[in-house]
Amino acid sequence: MKEVTIISGKGGTGKTSLLAAFAALSDRPVIADCDVDASNMHLILSPKKSSEFPIIGSQKAYIDPLRCTRCMKCQASCRFCAIDEELVVRNELCEGCAVCNYVCPEDAIDMLDFEAGSIVLANTRFGRFSYSKMKSGEEGSGKLVTAVRKQAREVAEKYGSNIILIDGPPGIGCPVIASIIGTNLALIVCEPTLSGLHDLKRVAALAMQMNVPVAVCVNKYDINESISCAIEDYCDMSSIPVLGKVPYDLEFVNAMVRGKCIMETRNDIKGIVAAIWDRAMAILF
Ligand code: SF4
Ligand code: SF4
Repeated sequence: MKEVTIISGKGGTGKTSLLAAFAALSDRPVIADCDVDASNMHLILSPKKSSEFPIIGSQKAYIDPLRCTRCMKCQASCRFCAIDEELVVRNELCEGCAVCNYVCPEDAIDMLDFEAGSIVLANTRFGRFSYSKMKSGEEGSGKLVTAVRKQAREVAEKYGSNIILIDGPPGIGCPVIASIIGTNLALIVCEPTLSGLHDLKRVAALAMQMNVPVAVCVNKYDINESISCAIEDYCDMSSIPVLGKVPYDLEFVNAMVRGKCIMETRNDIKGIVAAIWDRAMAILF
């Protein structure tokens, strides 16, 4: 079984649209949406939920009014202003750092597990789909990403799928690290802009530092062909294979609006995307 994580240096490069197209081209893939802060894969996949279980994200402080003597040390110590004048902890501000618990002379503060959201398994027309639903105000974390990936692996093993397609988060933060660690290929989708090239270099360096094989796909390459060439030059110098270049086409967005992927709507783009996926598969198998 192989895992491919589609990532990008920043959001909005079209990685989700491409991943949905790769899912359509794959034989019984398991799809994992690890872009937990801005998940949108469900818009294309129209999932039918088969199971859901809660996940603990972090801890929050709880002040026991029976033990509290109102010395206010906890409130003065909280750098996140999460404890109000009535000594009630505001969960949406509490970062779970436990400083209040440490300074309380009465041992009146407990750190309680807090449900961050849930991990969902669903069926889609392309394959089984693992994703998360976060409670409002909660931030995505590496822990959440790891739980989504773990479920995807279990399902792939159970149903004999040989490929897991992971929609990774943008950037180089903790959720990105959790989404690419141990994968067989980090496929970076980038746009031909100066910031796109800069972001590509950062995320490629991260993946290579983690010994994850890297490949690149240039999306909307024709909006700036000179920077597209600069991206190819960088990849060439860094021994990173460029799997292909996709032209700018509004149909990627229009298809998503209709709940479709590009493979279901446009014949002329199909060949380009299929060739990119063939090259990725040649690296994997
Ligand atoms: S756990 Fe940290 S953030 Fe939360 S209330 Fe206590 S000091 Fe503030
Ligand atoms: S530090 Fe402890 S005793 Fe003091 S106000 Fe906070 S909870 Fe109450």
